[in-house]
Amino acid sequence: MSGFEENAGSDGSAVSESVAVTATKLLIDGQMVDGGGAPVEVVDPATGESITTIPSASAEQVDAAMRAAEAAFETFGRTTPAERSALVHRIADVMEANATELAELESLDGGKPWPSALDDEMPLTIDTFRFMAGAARTMPGSATGEYVEGHTSMIRRDPVGPVAAIAPWNYPLMMGAWKLAAPLAAGCPVVLKPSEITPLSTLRLAELLADVVPAGVVQVLHGAGADVGAAMLHHPSTEAISITGSPATGRAAMAAAAEQIRHVHLELGGKAPVIVFDDADLDAVVETIVGGSYFNAGQDCAQPCRIMATAGVYDELVARLADGVGAIQVGHPRAEGTEMGPLVSAIQRERVAGFVDRARDVAEVVVGGSAGDGPGCFYTPTVVADVDHDVEIATDEIFGPVVTVSRITDADDAVAAANAGRYGLASSVWTRDVGRAMDVSSRLRYGFTWVNTHGVATPEMPWAAMKGSGTGCDMSVYSLDAYTAIRHVMVAH
Ligand code: NAD
Repeated sequence: MSGFEENAGSDGSAVSESVAVTATKLLIDGQMVDGGGAPVEVVDPATGESITTIPSASAEQVDAAMRAAEAAFETFGRTTPAERSALVHRIADVMEANATELAELESLDGGKPWPSALDDEMPLTIDTFRFMAGAARTMPGSATGEYVEGHTSMIRRDPVGPVAAIAPWNYPLMMGAWKLAAPLAAGCPVVLKPSEITPLSTLRLAELLADVVPAGVVQVLHGAGADVGAAMLHHPSTEAISITGSPATGRAAMAAAAEQIRHVHLELGGKAPVIVFDDADLDAVVETIVGGSYFNAGQDCAQPCRIMATAGVYDELVARLADGVGAIQVGHPRAEGTEMGPLVSAIQRERVAGFVDRARDVAEVVVGGSAGDGPGCFYTPTVVADVDHDVEIATDEIFGPVVTVSRITDADDAVAAANAGRYGLASSVWTRDVGRAMDVSSRLRYGFTWVNTHGVATPEMPWAAMKGSGTGCDMSVYSLDAYTAIRHVMVAH
């Protein structure tokens, strides 16, 4: 059974009241201002109805925001680590005090089940600021000494300047936190643009921060990527570009950076292999996939989505996944018991359905594979089995509630199949053999590999990208690298 339950959105009485949307202004140079550019409609993915229409930033406003960041850099770039740390802590305080409202906006805008949007996403979002507040105080240069007679050298690590930061729609506030906290910790003013599909929580955060953050240190814009986003990337005041989004946007960012020679940090798509050996704890594998692969309707760059299993467990794994995934309760985000909400947009649902439909001739859809009734952007949790390693559904990022299961013969086969992909973000290995876990994880060309778990994140550890998944990392002290330059100062005696 796969469930669009009776009470899950079609019956309005079972759906609890949602939040009021009031924040539709942009934050530029310390002021909340109406956008002067093209209006963008924001749609509730659970109903397909319009929530509001918000004017984007005009070209002049993008210019003003980038220039304000450049002006603010003169003072903010020279603040002490302790001052920056205090500021980043204050942002965390503001988020904590307003967590319920921010999470409600996130749930409304992205179709995230309530209260999961509050309980599962806000803690890491806020803790990212807390961690980065500490990380701000860990940026010493690495050497001082006399390397040329009569001269003393020192190595400094200094902020690079204004950052053009662009976030995706899947976790608007959490990705916004990753884009904001690290550059601020490093001493860089930020111009942040959330996805035009899900701007509500970030615009509300902007309003909350207007009186907390010095003018010019944080700007928040709104608007389409090709328009407002592109103008940010190409602006002469931009010294560093930080993007979380699709590979296409990453390419646009690299092209823009190439024009002016700028720093680029990219966190792009993923296609996480989940390598399951015969000796794996199958209960844990099934629990992780049923709970993790359909979280946020599968719209997660680290989603455990490409399962590869050896012969001894393959059939049992497929059968147990079919049962577990088929029982996931799909419904309106505010309906009691909803475990999975809609996809973010009708376009995204069509995209996901297209992948599954094109796979029907070459693989078996064992559960799911259909859209929900009604106007909301629902799609049933889906498992596709008997998937060859080189077919589209196994190699391309679907970014929806779809998991594939493929066969592997042994560790070499698994590593070869996993490393053949164009992505290199998340991966996991499931085995009770410590030696095999160490061997396979050392050979995977992925930014992070979990052993006997998948999806557990902490701000101390890097969310790192390899290959087509990007450059550098978010979270951890290493995320500061994208926003700082190593400098040599030499003093003649
Ligand atoms: P997207 O690339 O379409 O949009 C991301 C952001 O980039 C949006 O704000 C958009 O307006 C902007 N943008 C689009 N084109 C642009 C351009 N030419 N110039 C400047 N800005 C532009 O991605 P999405 O659909 O919002 O998000 C889904 C993608 O994000 C997936 O591929 C997913 O894997 C990836 N993602 C990666 C991570 C990670 O940590 N690696 C995390 C979350 C999402």
